[in-house]
Amino acid sequence: MHLTEKNKNTAVQPVLRFAPSPNGPLHLGHARSALLGYRMAQALDGRFLLRIEDIDTARAREEFVTGIKDDLAWLDITWEQPVLRQSEHFPVYATAAQRLQDIGLLYSCFASRTEILGASDPAKTDPEGVPLYPGISKKRPRDAIERDKAIGLPYALRLDMERAVAIARRKLDDQPLTFTELDATGQPQTIVAHPERWGDAIIVRKDTPASYHLAVVVDDARQGITHVTRGRDLYAATDLHRLLQVLLDLPEPLYRHHDLITDPSGRKLSKSEGATSLRAHRDRGLSPADVIHLALGQDQ
Ligand code: GLU
Repeated sequence: MHLTEKNKNTAVQPVLRFAPSPNGPLHLGHARSALLGYRMAQALDGRFLLRIEDIDTARAREEFVTGIKDDLAWLDITWEQPVLRQSEHFPVYATAAQRLQDIGLLYSCFASRTEILGASDPAKTDPEGVPLYPGISKKRPRDAIERDKAIGLPYALRLDMERAVAIARRKLDDQPLTFTELDATGQPQTIVAHPERWGDAIIVRKDTPASYHLAVVVDDARQGITHVTRGRDLYAATDLHRLLQVLLDLPEPLYRHHDLITDPSGRKLSKSEGATSLRAHRDRGLSPADVIHLALGQDQ
């Protein structure tokens, strides 16, 4: 494992984290992510944190939080206390959103999923294949917005991407927005980010007063995360995270996006597709070493 220049210069002790959403039991993909992060923390003589990303309060369940801790401990992974739970920090995310709002970067969107889909161009999609937001609420008159708010209609706050990119560009003195990705051997690569491919992304959801993108950048910063290790499925989201970091004057961590475990049809393991839980592997009699072997494969 190479230490990058950044680490050598700052001599800050590395801080890494595993940040699951307790919406279901952990599977082998989570084990891979947790183990790779934990091992990198050990190799760098760093600290390792567990963060519970439970802003989706309708889906998060206490039993999954307990299960996550139990599975990690079974894999012999240890983490520092206290464990940050995002649902206990909504005011912190609201403050960050307010900063963006104060510089005119957020606008209210009351549109339903069906309205948005109906108005969008299926040929223009974001990196996850979702049609780009067609901008239908962007130019709504102020009084119409106030009226909808007054009667209590729920709304999301979206990022005015064009404006956000322009402001970030100014802050960066016209230099490109980039991030540093560590490859499998720890070598840094500079990657140019293109957040505009996400369109006017949701920064504060309708159903919960934050979003994954906002909460993750705020928490990575306030927990002093120096190395973000996570799956390749979140690689494209990093473009948006870097944009938010620049807009909110947050420090830039290093990134390591590891490859994913796929099912026999080549899709990444997921709770919704019924991936076998670690608990079920345990109940079948697999030992921690067996699960580590399955989760890490060649990377063991
Ligand atoms: N909570 C996210 C997930 O479970 C991961 C967030 C991250 O590592 O940035 O997919």
